[in-house]
Amino acid sequence: MSAALSRSLWSRKAAQGLAGPGLCAYASRLVGADPRLVLWGGGNSSVKTVETDHAGRSVRTVWVKASGFDMKALKPSGLTALRLDELALLRGREKMTDEEMVAYIHRCQLDPQAARPSIETLLHAFLPAEHVYHTHADAIAGFTCAPESERRTRDAFGGKVLWVPYVRPGFQLSKWVIEVVERHPEARAMILDKHGALTWGEDARRAYEGMVTLTRAAMGYQFARAKT
Ligand code: ZN
Repeated sequence: MSAALSRSLWSRKAAQGLAGPGLCAYASRLVGADPRLVLWGGGNSSVKTVETDHAGRSVRTVWVKASGFDMKALKPSGLTALRLDELALLRGREKMTDEEMVAYIHRCQLDPQAARPSIETLLHAFLPAEHVYHTHADAIAGFTCAPESERRTRDAFGGKVLWVPYVRPGFQLSKWVIEVVERHPEARAMILDKHGALTWGEDARRAYEGMVTLTRAAMGYQFARAKT
């Protein structure tokens, strides 16, 4: 496997004047532009803002990429606005089936007609950071689908990158992720065992570049080991 991976594609000029879902869509297109970061249809992203709802109230909002939209062509209309405080209430639940979770998430949409948001919506909603990117990069899968992926994550990244064991995407995984992040509030990246990578931050550029750096480092680690 080649260790080469595009460096940051961020353009200050292109990002100028963008905010909220426009900025998230721009950064998502950069993530999607490199197939080593994200495969078609894989990966998702989000941004948190304050919006005005149909009754004129200010609502803390999370915009999450809708299912079936490609990251590399994402437009703001491919992000669905959801009431963040209502989603946050789910942290108090012990468990939820996929059906219950999807029905609940639908009721949190600011626009009931908007496209269905990702099944991984709660992963985004529970993280406090403004910008969140999640990918299923091959480089990460090759890294974490090997035995001892927790040890390999520590070996490759020290304590900088968090790790959570495998569980199918959904309610349980979202809870595990936020529980680990809350124990390490300084972290900005995580490996999800046998699944993918997650990066976040208050700044869209840094969160995006965190994903580039993490994926490059995972590829470099594998490349170095393959040569020995
Ligand atoms: Zn995923």
